[in-house]
Amino acid sequence: MEQRDKSLQTALIHSDYTAPAGFEAFPTAIHHASTVLFENVAALRSRNWQDKSGYTYGLHGTPTTFTLEARLAEIEGGHHCVLAPSGLAAIAMVDLALLSSGDDVLLPDNVYNPSRELGNWLSQAFGISVRYYDPLIGERIAALIQPNTRLIWTEAPGSVSMEVPDIPAICHAAHAAGVLVAIDNTWSAGIAFTAFDHGCDISMQALTKYQSGGSDVLMGAVITRDRELHRRLEAAHMRLGYGVGADDAYLVLRGLPTLKLRFEAHDRHALQVAAWLKTRPEVAAVLHPGFEDCPGHALWRRDFSGAGGLFSIVFNACYSEEQVDRFIDSLELFGIGYSWGGSASLAVPYRMTGLRRNWPHRGQLVRFYIGLEDPVDLLADIERALEQLA
Ligand SMILES: *Cc1c(COP(=O)(O)O)cnc(C)c1O
Repeated sequence: MEQRDKSLQTALIHSDYTAPAGFEAFPTAIHHASTVLFENVAALRSRNWQDKSGYTYGLHGTPTTFTLEARLAEIEGGHHCVLAPSGLAAIAMVDLALLSSGDDVLLPDNVYNPSRELGNWLSQAFGISVRYYDPLIGERIAALIQPNTRLIWTEAPGSVSMEVPDIPAICHAAHAAGVLVAIDNTWSAGIAFTAFDHGCDISMQALTKYQSGGSDVLMGAVITRDRELHRRLEAAHMRLGYGVGADDAYLVLRGLPTLKLRFEAHDRHALQVAAWLKTRPEVAAVLHPGFEDCPGHALWRRDFSGAGGLFSIVFNACYSEEQVDRFIDSLELFGIGYSWGGSASLAVPYRMTGLRRNWPHRGQLVRFYIGLEDPVDLLADIERALEQLA
């Protein structure tokens, strides 16, 4: 047997082989790492986890996650991005980075419901004042701002009830009082609404949705322009130990080249389905910002360049919850499930009592996510399911 300079056991761990340099391909390489190696002790001692010119530990980033962060910031016209293991984790990171006990935060009444749950926890367990405002409040939010108000969350539009807020007006009032504005910009994917150009300080994305596009990843991102603000978010990210998996980061990177084309296709298909539903006698209201009767429609026209695949309908109040549940159960091309952003269409019923304080509708609400199927087939499916209502 050939003589080795180390035992097989050691050679299994420390190989002499290194692949040739200079490999180039389109996909970003997937770097799996907890330990990141330093050239020497001096490098270890001198390197800072916040310095993005190098690597310190898997939790603080790899070439895969740095690339994803940079590309997400680029999409939104931001300068910095921090990844989180889910959209909700990204929301929590913003809250924990910017709020301490005694501070006040304002949330829209149509906020993504788990964010409301988080707000309740922050107020009960951490002594943070959490107040809710009418999403259509606009400039009048100035009257709600207190000396201890630190942060105003917006969501545009609310992802179930679909009211479009006046983001520039809210930002104007907030900034006049030195208050930061964060937007949950998931609905627009950062494509149909440019948060920073409209005054927001922070744009949060659930990458789980359109960016991944495959219904197979949970991830979130927080994007900023201001370096100091980014540092505060990064500090919270580090303290919380928010890692994201390399394979998941890769899946989101893989979705980005088609993000805009997919979003536009969802947008077209959803408008077609929503317009058809508007003509149906069973439907009392179609909640889609592209229609004139949707609260905030004029703001949507002014500030947005599209709508994507998500909208809701309210059935006539004569239909019971049981009947509407039967309608959803009899849909064949629509999955019944939460989240959205993948290729397949979805339908979910929401009970609005508990989600909204002053909800104007009495009928059952169903939220549709329109996927990439042929809309003609989707309409035929919905039409057949509507017959089950009778
Ligand atoms: C899905 C969603 C989130 C949370 O994302 P997760 O990755 O599921 O935690 C936050 N905000 C909005 C508007 C969402 O639709």
